[in-house]
Amino acid sequence: MSVQQQTPDDGEALEVWIDQDLCTGDGICAQYAPEVFELDIDGLAYVKGPDEELLQDRGATTPVPLPLLTDVVDSARECPGECIHVRRVSDKVEVYGPDAA
Ligand code: SF4
Repeated sequence: MSVQQQTPDDGEALEVWIDQDLCTGDGICAQYAPEVFELDIDGLAYVKGPDEELLQDRGATTPVPLPLLTDVVDSARECPGECIHVRRVSDKVEVYGPDAA
């Protein structure tokens, strides 16, 4: 499967992952960006791949589609578990989320 690269305004492709150990299962992310986040049967949120399959490995990473960047960033900001991490693909630096500078 090829990785779909998307370029936000600054030209950097971004990706997102969830730390399921901290997820509260409230589902806010899945409300904000259902194309990217979904609750699995274990009650925790996981990211979806580019073809919308649920990636059930903990800490799985998926590209952030540019049209959904705002929704994904809002999810990271509102996430009560502070466990949504958005980082640059190129150098893995977190740009939105609890570890962002
Ligand atoms: S918003 Fe955060 S804590 Fe809530 S379900 Fe999504 S990842 Fe889990």
